[in-house]
Amino acid sequence: MNLVLMGLPGAGKGTQAAKIVDKYGIPHISTGDMFRAAIKEGTELGIKAKSFMDAGNLVPDEVTIGIVDERLNKSDCDKGFLLDGFPRTVAQAEALESILSKSERSIDYVLNINVDKEQLMERLTGRRICKQCGATYHVIFNPPSEEGVCNKCGGELYQREDDNEETVKTRLEVNIEQSKPLLKFFEQKGYLRNIDGNRDIDDVFKDIDRLLGGLK
Ligand SMILES: [Zn+2]
Repeated sequence: MNLVLMGLPGAGKGTQAAKIVDKYGIPHISTGDMFRAAIKEGTELGIKAKSFMDAGNLVPDEVTIGIVDERLNKSDCDKGFLLDGFPRTVAQAEALESILSKSERSIDYVLNINVDKEQLMERLTGRRICKQCGATYHVIFNPPSEEGVCNKCGGELYQREDDNEETVKTRLEVNIEQSKPLLKFFEQKGYLRNIDGNRDIDDVFKDIDRLLGGLK
């Protein structure tokens, strides 16, 4: 099963990816891991990617696509893969299709985990960190016994700048705009499957599992 995983920050992609990998035994291929591996192995493309990153530049598409190509042709992808963080653009999606077609493969599903914006805001702005010991809490999912106070050391809890409402809102809006053309592309191709992510982790996975159970 050849899968692409999509979803906004806070949608629970990482959690669902772990469950898919656990049940179906396909590799979870995230862009970051892929780059790190190529650099560590010292492949030609890895060395190229590193030179762009070291200079503080974006890695150009041709290098990224080359790294994806190498990765998807490793033997652990024989039974499929779960791509996460790639493709990000329609051009990259088209490149992915042509990479796969060389070995007579194609995308089975693009799983898009949909979560309402309000719920994403709740999830993403709720983190609190202890000023003294660095312990992390979440006001809804993992609240301290006493509001604003660390359970472990009694230190004061604070919200990181990255987690404040304005920053999170902007980040989400940028992500929504960027993913629109890609989602449209996948929809037109017939790959897109929207998963309702506004629920418990296990209920979300049940839907995914049901869908994947139909694939060979
Ligand atoms: Zn503490």
